[in-house]
Amino acid sequence: MTTHLTLNNGVELPALGFGVFQTAPAETVVAVEAALRTGYRHIDTAAAYGNEREVGEAIRRSGLDRSEIFVETKVWISDYGYDAALHAFEKSAAKLGVGQLDLLILHQPLPTDFHLTIDAYRALEQLLADGKVRAIGVSNFMRENLDELLGATSVVPAVNQIEIHPYFAQRDVLAADAERGILSQAWSPIGGITFYRTGGTSTLDDPTIAGIAAAHGKTAAQVMLRWHLQEGRSAIPKSVTPHRIEENFDVFGFELTEAELRAIDALDEGVRRGPEPASLTLETAGFKIPEA
Ligand code: NDP
Repeated sequence: MTTHLTLNNGVELPALGFGVFQTAPAETVVAVEAALRTGYRHIDTAAAYGNEREVGEAIRRSGLDRSEIFVETKVWISDYGYDAALHAFEKSAAKLGVGQLDLLILHQPLPTDFHLTIDAYRALEQLLADGKVRAIGVSNFMRENLDELLGATSVVPAVNQIEIHPYFAQRDVLAADAERGILSQAWSPIGGITFYRTGGTSTLDDPTIAGIAAAHGKTAAQVMLRWHLQEGRSAIPKSVTPHRIEENFDVFGFELTEAELRAIDALDEGVRRGPEPASLTLETAGFKIPEA
């Protein structure tokens, strides 16, 4: 299995990235530095996470050449609309301290103001044409959101970043992405959303996953990451814990069988654990993203 995936515009993406949602700014430099030392070469942040500046600091401290690291960030909904999204790029790039982003995606569809979503995407298309970003995409887009977007714009998103873990596999959205040549990227790939919020069962305690992990001498998290990679998805696990940062990257030396992949597929409960994408509005979630 290859460690890289090729996006629909030919750009190469390291399949396994490092997420920083809920990583406090004060912890972010250390976590991202540890990830880069471990071998991750793809970082996923967002304007809304409030830690782009610290991600940039870690990249500079790593001593790695900028071209060796794939930097992905997201435009928040309060910056939707054409001019606002162009400015959102400037804010994120300045905080990250980079001239060009590898992947810039819209964080959410805004169903109540979809014209703003479309205008923001048109700004991403312009940034792509100007060489300010190497690829553009979306996040939390459902099939109908993709249809509406594709009907009004010309560049097919390279990536759709969505909630995917063994308990919520979103097969219909995976199929919608695949039909359109969009790479599906898993957020909460080890099911963080199943355990860092209260209530519900955790993917980390799942007996089927535990059995497969035991058979390979691996952990449940490693098995889930391997499942994503073998099914052709990008995954961006988050951790601030040094041994877990290493554990989550140590997934290239074993292979799940076809039967094991199917057994994990069968765990899908079809119930979303994260927020319902269609429920988001500017009124409830449109907090402002500070200037750089
Ligand atoms: P993950 O599935 O990556 O799980 C993260 C949680 O699991 C943290 O609590 C972490 O704890 C813990 N953890 C990490 N590794 C292990 C391990 N090996 N064993 C046991 N526990 C572990 O969930 P996230 O929701 O954070 O998703 C990953 C990334 O996806 C985010 O950081 C963000 O970049 C992106 N994301 C995007 C969203 C979107 O709307 N587009 C929404 C949510 C996430 P600790 O850090 O304490 O080690």
